[in-house]
Amino acid sequence: MSTDEDDDQPVTIECVHHGSCVAAVLCVHLLRKDGESVGFVENSAVPHDLQAWCRACENKYAEEGEMTEAFRAFHQMVVVCTHCYEDARLRHNVPAH
Ligand SMILES: [Zn+2]
Ligand SMILES: [Zn+2]
Repeated sequence: MSTDEDDDQPVTIECVHHGSCVAAVLCVHLLRKDGESVGFVENSAVPHDLQAWCRACENKYAEEGEMTEAFRAFHQMVVVCTHCYEDARLRHNVPAH
């Protein structure tokens, strides 16, 4: 049995801002940079498999109950690099006081 796929290897992408980096997944709403916090709900904190979506997506997912077409259309999964992921976290994960 031979395969070129190695699950231990993190997926990397070529980020326009950060160069070749490990890939992470965000919802489209977390790309907002107009200063408004949409919340940051982390679904996977595995270093090589980071995934997060916003509060609206969290609500939408709760509404749908699973990964439906409607949810996917709302979420519009975006692959970014881990640095962009951290940027989004800093921008949107505003602690409630
Ligand atoms: Zn979202
Ligand atoms: Zn980046």
